[in-house]
Amino acid sequence: MAGSAIRLHGGIAILGCFLAVVSSVPAAAETREPSGGLVALVEAPELKDSIAPDQLAEVQAAIAAYAKRNPARAGKDEAYSYSFFPQAGILGRDLFLNNYTDQDPSSGLIRDFDCSEYTYDGHQGHDSLIRSFREQAIGVPVFAARDGVVVQTHDGEPDMNTVWDSRNRANLVVVDHGGGYFGWYLHLKRDSVAVSPGQVVTAGTQLGLTGSSGFSDWPHLHFETQKDGRWLEPSAGPCRPGESLWLSQGPVLRDFYVADFYLARGEISIPDAETFFLDETARTATFVKGVETVGLRADLRNLPAHATVHLRILTPRGKVAYEDEGMFENPVLDHLALAVFAFALNLDAVGTWRLQAEINGDLAVNVPFRVVATTKQVKNRPPNRITARLSPSKPVEGQVLTCEVQTSLISEDPDFDIVSYRYEWRINNRVVRSLTSAALTDLLPAGMAKPKDRVSCRVVPADAKSLGKAAVAMTMVEAQ
Ligand SMILES: [Zn+2]
Repeated sequence: MAGSAIRLHGGIAILGCFLAVVSSVPAAAETREPSGGLVALVEAPELKDSIAPDQLAEVQAAIAAYAKRNPARAGKDEAYSYSFFPQAGILGRDLFLNNYTDQDPSSGLIRDFDCSEYTYDGHQGHDSLIRSFREQAIGVPVFAARDGVVVQTHDGEPDMNTVWDSRNRANLVVVDHGGGYFGWYLHLKRDSVAVSPGQVVTAGTQLGLTGSSGFSDWPHLHFETQKDGRWLEPSAGPCRPGESLWLSQGPVLRDFYVADFYLARGEISIPDAETFFLDETARTATFVKGVETVGLRADLRNLPAHATVHLRILTPRGKVAYEDEGMFENPVLDHLALAVFAFALNLDAVGTWRLQAEINGDLAVNVPFRVVATTKQVKNRPPNRITARLSPSKPVEGQVLTCEVQTSLISEDPDFDIVSYRYEWRINNRVVRSLTSAALTDLLPAGMAKPKDRVSCRVVPADAKSLGKAAVAMTMVEAQ
């Protein structure tokens, strides 16, 4: 099956065709000029991945040779657990865990650990997606889930695959995490692998960056846990009995949310998977007074079947300038979809307008946009204000620290620009880690901070042109 095609629900124009006045919906049938609606509901390419057979054989041989050299390590029995997800970002926010392992051995049938269908047939790991190749280009770190020893690495392969091809080799890292367990980290960004075989790593050490190298059609991390040569599901639930390997296991995230959003001048076109992932449409939230076609792209997660949508555009005085409602025609829940709308609006007043979208009755989008008098007044604005939080808030020696940015996925930036975050970690005021990331979290590896050390994380958001205001979080490390 080719993975390049994206599925359009043809003719699903829920609100009528682009620029057509919808007569069947009373709210839009008034004589008001502006009109528009849904251009397309695009179902995302299905995320499926694997490892090229020859590369699989190589990794297995490397593990076998390693195990032979280190028999004591593999045999050591220890309590095995994960205290954090080994990728920068927040699950259910800028990361989306689309596939767990498949607990149904029958071919053609699928079930994840919780007996739902967040997996695909035969899947052996966790697939967590980042939002697009734009975020991949900035960088989304992948971390060692536990202390360990690096067994195998591979780098140098192309990393923007959108078509499944079993011949594509992945950039990868395999780590011996002790007790006979191995962590496989696949599909990394080219030239991002930051460790080498034999290297001892602590939990939270950056192994590489998220990519779409190898047998992959989405920018994502495939994180697989193996014990004694067999893959296993770390999460426990009705379809995977026993203990969870997560110290704090999260649920399968099935709630609807909007993962990304922007407006643009003119209609937005998403003709293929490449554009889906590498959409370079100029984003904006500032329009010049007059009649203007405004395009809208919203990246949706867990879109319920036949979800209702109610759109409203308000003038600076709060009057409804456009309103319409309808229903998406997706017959089943879409894990990953995007909706593209376009409106011809008579932007006849300078000031702050507002766009609101209710999905299934919930106000999912509520964003301001500006109308100015002349083109000269269209100016870039820095990213919106963020706050930063460290967790755990009272860390003890040996724990991995997480620095988390709080912002809105929809309006990280007032112009809907893609935002990068510059993280700077200090211990007792000395910089110990700094990087630019697209993710809403970064980690400080275990063992770096000692008792009584003051740890701080400073984060500066930026779009392509300007820096936003820094946010700082700090704490002190306690003895164990
Ligand atoms: Zn996978």
